[in-house]
Amino acid sequence: MKSLKLIFLLLITLTYEYSYASEKDKLFQEQSMLSVLYVQTSTEFAANNIQTFNNASKALDMALKDKTWTAALEQKDNFISKDPAIIIDVDETVLDNSSFQSRTILSGLSYPNGWAKWVNESKATAVEGVYEFLHYANESNVKIFYVTNRLESFREPTIRNLKSLGLPFDDSLNSLIMREDEDVRDKTKRRKNIAENYRIVLLLGDQLTDFISTKEAYVYHSDRKKLANKYSDMWGSKWFMITNPTYGRWELSIYDEMPKSEEEAIQKRKETLNP
Ligand SMILES: [Mg+2]
Repeated sequence: MKSLKLIFLLLITLTYEYSYASEKDKLFQEQSMLSVLYVQTSTEFAANNIQTFNNASKALDMALKDKTWTAALEQKDNFISKDPAIIIDVDETVLDNSSFQSRTILSGLSYPNGWAKWVNESKATAVEGVYEFLHYANESNVKIFYVTNRLESFREPTIRNLKSLGLPFDDSLNSLIMREDEDVRDKTKRRKNIAENYRIVLLLGDQLTDFISTKEAYVYHSDRKKLANKYSDMWGSKWFMITNPTYGRWELSIYDEMPKSEEEAIQKRKETLNP
């Protein structure tokens, strides 16, 4: 039961540690095995990411030619003369943490157990296609803001990881914008702050909240799915979504009420299937 509670803490805390693994925990963790294998082994996943970043490079060209172009809902006016910038999420958009996910399956220990250790190792690999895209943006004189919900305490190992992969990182700029308040996962304010000084030309992420507010995105899955169509003009044009089948708000949105046990959660997953 303990690990289920930790699933729901996924979006709340990175610091809680526990060291308990029952057979049930292991079975629960194993439910994510195929999605993790898809990320780690499938050419389809890699091709999809390359496809996304190739298209993002093309969109960047268009954005730079059109000074009236902004990708941020938070950016309303007075941006035409501002320098261009992109905002990109870190986990599962730039850094591939699927090795950490594999560890949770093999150990039967849920996130965040082992997360701090993993981050401090700075061993995440780069998502396919992101290296080329970020260098293209950098060479096009576009500022790159990495906006992540990793906590400030992970700043040093995160920068070390990005640099070890040869990704562009501007030390002179506050390029890495982390989560200052443990309870605030919403990125709206951070996007708004960047919009004060830059024209935000593209947004890239693996979660809806990399594009819109938590207020709008944290709803039951049937309503949440409608948001894809609401913003149909943005996808592939100004917003670029990386698929993340392994975790995220999409999963939590299938529970109308927080399940009280792992069995209840698995039952709810079955009930949500559409045969
Ligand atoms: Mg992410």
